[in-house]
Amino acid sequence: TLSDRLAATFKNLRGKGRLSEADIDATAREIRIALLEADVALPVVRAFIKQVKERAAGAEVSQALNPAQQVIKIVNEELVGILGGETRRLRFAKQPPTVIMLAGLQGSGKTTLAGKLGLWLKGQGHSPLLVAADLQRPNAVTQLSVVAERAGVAVYAPEPGNGVGDPVKVAKDSIEYARAKQFDVVVVDTAGRLGIDQELMQQAADIRDAVSPDEVLFVVDAMIGQDAVNTAEAFRDGVGFDGVVLSKLDGDARGGAALSIAHVTGRQIMFASNGEKLDEFDAFHPDRMASRILGMGDMMSLIEKAEQTFSQEEAAQMASKLASSKGKDFTLDDFLAQMEQVRKMGSISKLLGMLPGMGQIKDQINNIDERDVDRTAAIIKSMTPGERQEPTIINGSRRARIAKGSGVDVSAVKGLVERFFEARKMMSRMAQGGGMPGMPGMPG
Ligand code: GDP
Ligand code: MG
Repeated sequence: TLSDRLAATFKNLRGKGRLSEADIDATAREIRIALLEADVALPVVRAFIKQVKERAAGAEVSQALNPAQQVIKIVNEELVGILGGETRRLRFAKQPPTVIMLAGLQGSGKTTLAGKLGLWLKGQGHSPLLVAADLQRPNAVTQLSVVAERAGVAVYAPEPGNGVGDPVKVAKDSIEYARAKQFDVVVVDTAGRLGIDQELMQQAADIRDAVSPDEVLFVVDAMIGQDAVNTAEAFRDGVGFDGVVLSKLDGDARGGAALSIAHVTGRQIMFASNGEKLDEFDAFHPDRMASRILGMGDMMSLIEKAEQTFSQEEAAQMASKLASSKGKDFTLDDFLAQMEQVRKMGSISKLLGMLPGMGQIKDQINNIDERDVDRTAAIIKSMTPGERQEPTIINGSRRARIAKGSGVDVSAVKGLVERFFEARKMMSRMAQGGGMPGMPGMPG
C-alpha cells in the first residue's frame, strides 16, 4: 500500500529538518503509482504530483508525524481540495419550479438517478416531477415511469404511440405542466449514447436551452477510468454542467475518475450513487473519496487524523460549560457543534468497521444519519445569531424564513427546534448530575 511504501522510503529520514529533494522524488514515484492504480488519468496525475512536490518541498519535517505520514497528509489535503472541499448543495430556484437536468453517457445511471433524486427530494418535503426527455430508446420512458412509481413521485411522459419524438418539446411542456400542477422541482432525464455523439450532444444542448435548468448534473460511471477526462470535457463543452454525480461507486472502482473530472472541469462532485436501489445515494464526501483513491493502506493515518479532530478537550469543554450553566446557555450553535462531532465519529465508524475487532465500536455509532446532520446544519445555518442563541424567539414567520433559506419545509424547522429543547433539557439534567454529555465515547 501507499503508506507502507512511503514508510519504507522514509526509513532513514528521522531527524532531518526538511524533506530532501531525493526524498520528495522517491515519494512522488510512490504516489504516482498509487494514483495510476486508482485509474486517475495520466495528465491529471502529472499535474497533481507537481502540486504535491511543491508543497512537500516547503514543508518542515513535523515533530508530531513521521515523514511518510506527513506526505500522506499533504497528499490527502490536496486530494480533498481538488475533490471539492466541502460538498456543495443543490441550488433551488427562487421562483419554483427548480429545474434539474441530467446529462451523461448511456448507462451512466441518469434514469436511476432521476428516481433517487425524486425519492430524496420527496423526503425533504418537495414535490418532484420526473420528466422523460429520453425518447431515444423504446423502453426509456417505461423505465423512468417504473422508477418514478417506485419512488412514489410523479412522472411526465409523452403518450405512447402519440407521434412521440421531440424530447425538446416534451421537456419544454413539462415545465408548464409543473407550474400548473405546482410541482416545485422538475428532474429532466435525457438520452445518452455509448460514445460521445454530436447529434445527441446537440439535443441535450437544445433541451438545456428550452428548460433553462438551475442545475445541469453530469452523471458519470465511476468505472469509466481513463476515459473520464475526454467524456467530461465533451459534456462540458457540448452541454455545460454545474455539478457532477458519480455513479456505481458500489463497484470496485478506486474512484480515480472523480479526481480526473474534478481536476479537469473544476466542477464539484455533488452526489454519490452507490447501488441500483433508490436509496443507495448520498452526498459526495471528498475526504472518503480521497482515502479510497489512496487505497486501504492509508486507513490508519486517516484514523489518526480523525482522532485528532475529535479532540477530547472539546468534549471536556462542553461538559464544563454545561456544568457551570446548568445547561441553560446550551445554544443551537452548541447543538450543531455536537452533531458535527458525532458526524466525524460516523465517518470514523466506517473506517473502524473495516478493521478487525472494531465492530463493536462501530455498532455504537453507526446509526447516525448523515443526511440528517446535513439538513440540521443547513437549518441552523439559516438562523440569525439571535435565534441560535435563544430559539424561543422563533415564531411562525421566522420559521417560514428559515425553512425557505435552508430548502426544507416548515415542519422540519419545527421538529429541529423541538429536538433542541429536548436536548437542552437533557443537558441541563446531566449538568446537574455532573455527567458528561451523552455522546458515545471513543477509545482513548
Ligand atoms: P442511463 O442510461 O444513464 O439512464 O442509466 P440507467 O439509470 O438506466 O442505469 C444503467 C444501469 O446501471 C442500470 O442497470 C442501473 O440499474 C445501473 N445503475 C445505475 N446506477 C447504479 C449504481 O449506483 N450502482 C450500480 N451497481 N448500478 C447502477
Ligand atoms: Mg436512461
